[in-house]
Amino acid sequence: THLVFIDDVDMRYGGADGTLAVSGLTMRVEKGDFAAVVGPSGCGKSTLMKLVTGLHIPQAGTVIVAGQHVTKPVSIVGMAFQNPTMLPWRTTLENILLPLEIVEKHRHRLRAHRKDYVAQAENLLELVGLKGFGAKYPWQLSGGMQQRANLCRALIHQPDLLMLDEPFGALDAFTREELWCVIRDLHAAQGVTIILVTHDLREASFLADKIFVMSARPGRIVREHRVPFARPRD
Ligand code: ADP
Ligand code: ADP
Repeated sequence: THLVFIDDVDMRYGGADGTLAVSGLTMRVEKGDFAAVVGPSGCGKSTLMKLVTGLHIPQAGTVIVAGQHVTKPVSIVGMAFQNPTMLPWRTTLENILLPLEIVEKHRHRLRAHRKDYVAQAENLLELVGLKGFGAKYPWQLSGGMQQRANLCRALIHQPDLLMLDEPFGALDAFTREELWCVIRDLHAAQGVTIILVTHDLREASFLADKIFVMSARPGRIVREHRVPFARPRD
């Protein structure tokens, strides 16, 4: 079964004679996949992210996520972007709990079961190598640590789908490779479906089991690779 089903989608910005950002975009992602979308700047990767998360609604074609036609922002999706945007007046732990306060369904649960959610946030912090850092403020963390915390925040509401838009782009090469291992472990441990947008082919082939290649003008998927060898998971 497909968790994400995108079929023949056209998305144009700025009215009838605006930019045709993607056209004839077709893509399927199965539950449990780690998919990467690669392509040059401007090919429509961010547009694809916004279509899946319901931040943009296309003029033509079909977008279905978890069996539902996407017509508004989708709350079962976790998102992490290139620049972590944590609130400086909240601790790391409080920042991680933030998505729960925003989604109404979770807000009630958070009030009733705050302890459980705090425990879950601490568990995630441990998974990404930030055990004990929950009480620190974001500005007391390095860029790489903030990005790790950002991943915890994207996962706190146990999303079915995690969307990562160049989440390692702003990091130095060493920290980036460390985080690759973190995200690979998270995928293995949590069984969450992941779509990673990147222009780094090495990153895509290290992490993903499926690679979708996009071309520009108009943006669409032109090729799909299955990464042929099982990645080491120890
Ligand atoms: P990528 O993420 O691969 O760099 P984008 O999805 O951001 O690509 O952009 C795809 C195309 O759509 C580009 O030509 C870009 O300039 C255009 N585009 C993106 N967002 C907008 C917007 N809000 N208004 C007009 N054009 C846009
Ligand atoms: P990225 O490469 O990560 O997509 P961009 O710099 O292309 O980042 O885009 C940043 C923001 O500006 C996005 O929200 C995108 O939708 C918007 N944008 C991109 N291109 C255009 C454009 N030509 N006109 C208006 N908005 C745009």
